[in-house]
Amino acid sequence: MADQTTTLLILGASGDLTRRLLLPGLGTLLREETDRRVRVLGADRLELSEEDWQGRVRDSLAEAEVPEEVAEPVVRAATYLRTDLLERDQLQALLDAVDEPVVLYFALPPAVTIKVCALLEELTVPEGTRLALEKPFGDSLETARELNRQLLRVVPEGDIFRIDHFLGVNTILNLIGIRFANRLLQPIWSAEHIEKVDICYDETLALEGRAGYYDHAGALMDMIQSHLLEVLAFFAMEAPATMHAEEIRGLKAQALRATQPWGHDPAAASRRARYVAGELGDRTVPDYAAEEGVDPSRQTETLAQLTVQLDNARWAGVPFRLRSGKALGTATKQVVVTFRAPSHVPHGLTDTPDPDRLVLELKPGSVSLDLSMNAEGDPFELEQKELTAELGKARMLPYGEILGAILDGNPLLTIRGDEAEELWRIVEPVLDAWQADEVPLEEYAAGSAGPDGWV
Ligand code: NDP
Repeated sequence: MADQTTTLLILGASGDLTRRLLLPGLGTLLREETDRRVRVLGADRLELSEEDWQGRVRDSLAEAEVPEEVAEPVVRAATYLRTDLLERDQLQALLDAVDEPVVLYFALPPAVTIKVCALLEELTVPEGTRLALEKPFGDSLETARELNRQLLRVVPEGDIFRIDHFLGVNTILNLIGIRFANRLLQPIWSAEHIEKVDICYDETLALEGRAGYYDHAGALMDMIQSHLLEVLAFFAMEAPATMHAEEIRGLKAQALRATQPWGHDPAAASRRARYVAGELGDRTVPDYAAEEGVDPSRQTETLAQLTVQLDNARWAGVPFRLRSGKALGTATKQVVVTFRAPSHVPHGLTDTPDPDRLVLELKPGSVSLDLSMNAEGDPFELEQKELTAELGKARMLPYGEILGAILDGNPLLTIRGDEAEELWRIVEPVLDAWQADEVPLEEYAAGSAGPDGWV
């Protein structure tokens, strides 16, 4: 951790992300790392007094139970500058007002972020400026490439931090530890022993008033194009020699470069569906298409599934099924590894045993291993038993982990430019197939397990 004070300049300081995720994340960071020195500067076009801004910072730090002697200096040093970030002179004045080193955190609508980046190209940015950007990184391979080129005209790649909050989630980072620190698992992490992998993030939450964003994104872009492919990259990457950011990010990019829709057939490899009215717990969820702000003609999917393969020596032939959806009956957030059947089971020992499985629950975190064993009764009759370990509570919120790394200038928990492009390269043919209506938009009732027949 640097001794120096770093300025965190939040662009879009009165927005939803800042309020719900960034400031609470910062709170948990300061609670855990009480000697961290950070100055929180907010900029937005909203008229907001310095006291109001300081009040928001104070509330978030109090909520996170940051000790008062740690919180108060941060709160008192917090500054707010009302700025229209699309006005060149106002943006330059803002940049002139910050102390170095500074992290410019783009908590802005994506279209505004792109315009502000274009302005930055023409302005003088402080030496050593870091740029922290929220997804989406473009909306296609071409726009992701263009955004990357644009960002590189402002600062070098090492100072660009593309954020995916899944990279700050302890149960996902646990994939690295569990894979590479266990003799038991390390040698069997390949197509030779693994039959298939399922990465699932099903939510019971429905649209919850987020049509403005979600109806333009859908489940494939919102979850699979970003978060779940990043989980896949951690799962499938080759072994790093160190935990150095460039090494890990290089290995993740390598895994993503090998990734293709199953059978190189994006239409056959994918499915999509949208929820209709149904009962979810004790409430009735309306048709997605009837939700306020939804344009039904967009055909936005609320459940998506994409099976991919990795064309490399380790994973050839193993299907990785990525699935995520909303308004489902059960919240299933897990990575399930199904192992191949044993090469031979002694005749007379048992019927064909169920395959061994390793289940990594992402929320709440746990790891369980399903093994066949003789549990009770007939000593030669096996049954499958589950060995489970609960993972401890995360020390801080994902945004706290990520902010801490960015403030330290460590890109380990963020996405490199080439990775961001690969994520689009994998998904774009699927979106094209959907747009060409090569994949039907199925239906499922809210509160159900999804359309019939999906595996
Ligand atoms: P919001 O619209 O809630 O916040 C954006 C803020 O930027 C608003 O306060 C807006 O002001 C302000 N703003 C817009 N234009 C300008 C301008 N020209 N000058 C100054 N301020 C301006 O968006 P979110 O916080 O929801 O999202 C921000 C980013 O974070 C997006 O990229 C989103 O994809 C990403 N994200 C958001 C998540 C969330 O849960 N909210 C989760 C993960 C990522 P005004 O209200 O006046 O327009």
